[in-house]
Amino acid sequence: MTHTITAFPNGKWKQNCYIVSDDDTGQALLIDPGSQAQEIQDLISLRAHTPVAILNTHAHYDHIGAVAALMAQYAIPFYLHRGDDKLLKQANLYKILFESKAPVTIPQATHDLSQLAVPAQIGGFKVSVLFTPGHTQGSTCLQIGADLFSGDTLLPGGPGRTDLPGGDKKMLTASVNSLRNLPGTITVRPGHGRPFALASLWEKLSRDGATT
Ligand SMILES: [Zn+2]
Ligand SMILES: [Zn+2]
Repeated sequence: MTHTITAFPNGKWKQNCYIVSDDDTGQALLIDPGSQAQEIQDLISLRAHTPVAILNTHAHYDHIGAVAALMAQYAIPFYLHRGDDKLLKQANLYKILFESKAPVTIPQATHDLSQLAVPAQIGGFKVSVLFTPGHTQGSTCLQIGADLFSGDTLLPGGPGRTDLPGGDKKMLTASVNSLRNLPGTITVRPGHGRPFALASLWEKLSRDGATT
């Protein structure tokens, strides 16, 4: 199958929600719907997609804010790594600290990403879940074909922050290194910012390493 990716930056932190759609069937996976559920629904209607599941790279509040509404709207499952269960439950604590008092509705994960086969079949999609803790305890990267949805594990400027709830720098470094086995031609679709080639990240890291 061939798929099309629509990025929808949303919310205060311009977090990316990705809609991955199957060009033949119109089935779609929703990755990290962080906020603006109505606009995400409008995009889905406009393109006549049929959502089959929501997958999250991690459970920071800015990536999960629209999950509950979209689960209810389409009656679809929600996949999250169980390492982020606690963070998910505490999402509003961090929303208050970092953004505003208006709470997000905390969704209930129906599937644990750590329990899936690699690759797993979700609807018509083959998804490889790569466990990459460090930005949070349950952070994952989701590989679909030649695209890697990296959440905040990899961002355009390099590996993500580890000073936020659930962060661990040593763990993140090990996780980033575990991705070196992947082809450099893979397109990384980060949680914030524009896509980039995986190879360009390795070049950047070796340049940074050489100058420090
Ligand atoms: Zn995050
Ligand atoms: Zn983020």
